[in-house]
Amino acid sequence: MSTRTLPLEDHLYDYVKSVSLREPPIFELCRLETARLPMGQMQISPEQGQFLAFLVELIGAKTAIEIGTFTGYSSLWIASALPDRGCLLCCDISEPWTAVARRYWEEARLMHKIELHVEPALQMLDGLVGHADASFDFAFIDADKQNYDAYYEGILRLIRPGGLIAIDNVLWSGKVADWTVSDPDTEAIRQLNNKLHDDDRVSLTLVPIGDGMTLLRKR
Ligand code: CA
Repeated sequence: MSTRTLPLEDHLYDYVKSVSLREPPIFELCRLETARLPMGQMQISPEQGQFLAFLVELIGAKTAIEIGTFTGYSSLWIASALPDRGCLLCCDISEPWTAVARRYWEEARLMHKIELHVEPALQMLDGLVGHADASFDFAFIDADKQNYDAYYEGILRLIRPGGLIAIDNVLWSGKVADWTVSDPDTEAIRQLNNKLHDDDRVSLTLVPIGDGMTLLRKR
């Protein structure tokens, strides 16, 4: 019996989903439509989406922020777990991608909880930092990897103490642990992983779900 995390072979992964996934049909449609896009592999996995929703519910989040909305699959899960008067601020630079997201937010009747910003995330974060009332309970970072550290620092200023930050793709298909790989994206994630490990402003755990997700609780 090993004490390490189990490798999820296909049959075990299918089993995990069969006994735990409660994906609403509209969410599934969004995921399947996105999977057919050229960049479709960028979206999070369904069990990851459900995990994010679980966390939002668990901490009783009312305000959330997402950096990197893509076609909206993760935001569907996050917004669905917010209370009716909750708010999710979404940010992405792509009009075509977020047009897909908007269509599914409407269909899932979540539009009233979501505010979309189509602009560079650093610009949006800079704008928010000046606002006294810009305080968030929950944040999800899943955008261009070379800006991850800057997104993290911006978010950390905006999240309330005790608030939760989730960062996606921290294992980067395993490339972070392959020392023959040194492209800028891999290096950026590696450096952030190392920094977070030593960052006493937060408590952390790295969950090997999807492509690896680090959870940070602001102290
Ligand atoms: Ca991702």
